[in-house]
Amino acid sequence: MAGEPQADCLFCKIVSGEVPATVVRETDTTVAFRDINPQAPTHILVIPKVHHPDAAALAAAEPQVTADVLREAGAVAADEKLVETGYRVVFNTGSGAGQTVFHAHAHVLGGRGLNWPPG
Ligand code: C5P
Repeated sequence: MAGEPQADCLFCKIVSGEVPATVVRETDTTVAFRDINPQAPTHILVIPKVHHPDAAALAAAEPQVTADVLREAGAVAADEKLVETGYRVVFNTGSGAGQTVFHAHAHVLGGRGLNWPPG
């Protein structure tokens, strides 16, 4: 069923605690943890606890949880003191855009200059 944990999903396993992660924030609906392969001094992933394959699917099924993810991305940025210097929130969607884990997640990146357009 949509939203249910998937046995083969790495991020569902982080939600359940089966796979360890450096968790920095948690709410009833979200988990935020440090990316294992950081691309900036601050690189944190915010994920919904429910399983949906990407941000668009999450937004279609669970608009409130999508808002929770975005609110937590802002909270992470504030915790990491990124608000003044600026930061980026990215949802890679589809393998052609670099998505490798098909459980919706927001990348929160900051702590260095961020070029535009992104690569
Ligand atoms: O957008 P994309 O699907 O590529 O992002 C997945 C992210 O999950 C990667 O940045 C990767 O480094 C991260 N990751 C992680 N912990 C794991 C496996 C992947 O932080 N155990």
